[in-house]
Amino acid sequence: MIAHTSGETAPASRRRQTAAQRAVLSVLDSSEHFRSAQQLYRQLRQHPTHQFGLTTVYRVLRTLVEDKIAEIQRAEDGELLYRIRTTNEHRHYLLCRQCGRAEAFTSTPIEDQTRQLSRTFDYTDVTHHVDLYGVCPRCRDT
Ligand SMILES: [Zn+2]
Ligand SMILES: [Zn+2]
Repeated sequence: MIAHTSGETAPASRRRQTAAQRAVLSVLDSSEHFRSAQQLYRQLRQHPTHQFGLTTVYRVLRTLVEDKIAEIQRAEDGELLYRIRTTNEHRHYLLCRQCGRAEAFTSTPIEDQTRQLSRTFDYTDVTHHVDLYGVCPRCRDT
């Protein structure tokens, strides 16, 4: 009996974390739009069985990003937004500032200029973030 109880301690905590991960994933999966941790948290709380704290949501999101299951994008105000990763390729986004809808694009001039500047100034490991923000047709028409 004692052995049984103590044997359950570690798996139980793992199970809780897995349940939170599953819950966050199901909410992330429900939309392709980028959403903030706060928004995801609020959507999560609408399910009676998904009463996880905001700290847990942040922790799960961080793990999902580290595991490359989720991708992050910065909102116009710098807040981090999340969604299920759709591609591992380098992309830029035109993002709706109201609903988080994202149109991915690649830009040869931006990539070329990055390489050129890196060469000119002899920098290595150069990265860039070029994000565009606007209002999508659906948000504009409602
Ligand atoms: Zn929109
Ligand atoms: Zn780029």
